[in-house]
Amino acid sequence: MTFARLPIEEETYLFDVRMFGQEGFGAIYLIADDRKAIIETGTSWDAARILEAVRAFGLRPGDIDALVVSHIHLDHAGGAGFLLEEMSRARVYVHERGLKHLADPTRLLASAREALGPEESQAFGTMRPIPADRLVAVKEGDRLELGKHVLRFLDSPGHAPHELTILDERTRCMYTGDAAGLYFPGDEILMPIAPAPAFDLGQNLETLQRILALEPKALLFSHYGPHANPKEAIDAMMIAYPAWARVVKDSLASRGPDRVLRQLYDMSCRAAKRYPREFLERRIRTSITGLAAYHERMEHAAPVR
Ligand SMILES: [Zn+2]
Repeated sequence: MTFARLPIEEETYLFDVRMFGQEGFGAIYLIADDRKAIIETGTSWDAARILEAVRAFGLRPGDIDALVVSHIHLDHAGGAGFLLEEMSRARVYVHERGLKHLADPTRLLASAREALGPEESQAFGTMRPIPADRLVAVKEGDRLELGKHVLRFLDSPGHAPHELTILDERTRCMYTGDAAGLYFPGDEILMPIAPAPAFDLGQNLETLQRILALEPKALLFSHYGPHANPKEAIDAMMIAYPAWARVVKDSLASRGPDRVLRQLYDMSCRAAKRYPREFLERRIRTSITGLAAYHERMEHAAPVR
């Protein structure tokens, strides 16, 4: 198993790392330009498979120059510290707000455990501290030149405050991280992802608007793969995010998590064939927890009359 070329462009490749044992969920991208960049590093469980895929592609791990993480959640940045051991010259590009947590992941791991619960956090793996001299802080507008490809980083809060989206200025494709939700190809499911502790609906909607305004040619989802009709996908997400938030706000206390889960599943996942119901429900549960935390924060932030 290795990286396969995307139809968009000669130097952009996708590897299905089979995150959480599921086909078509964890996308690792490779841009094989003069300099070689990998976008997203999976969980710590995925690192060995990524290294294998790099070798099967005909590169040595030491050939990789840059590891770009869309944000610091464990399923995006967890593999980075482990990959670096073999990728002797690579540096990790990360949002400036997330950098210190990759250098010392203690608090990040504790917060992930709390947000995910014991069973789910096992699947998300762990992290290895990354030495400061191998981390590059990225902020809005920064660019990474690879040769023909230039990556432009965009501050894209909402899913998390340390979320980046990344525009390839050559292909006009946009790496969306988790900023534009989840895409399940084949079943053509588009689903919000709103995790605790820091999901912010207003910011996420602004980020979606911004992605749309840039008129990308395709969206490259971290979960999972290319979507060739960005306007259609973003329009659907602009409806789904507030709709999900409303269901959780209106029904969680009165009807309970299981019925909310079923309602959200019916809203977004009826077409599921390729993806098991149980797998999709796990993703939805993450968002129920995150949306509940968001609403609670909003209530506490409301002005006192
Ligand atoms: Zn993710």
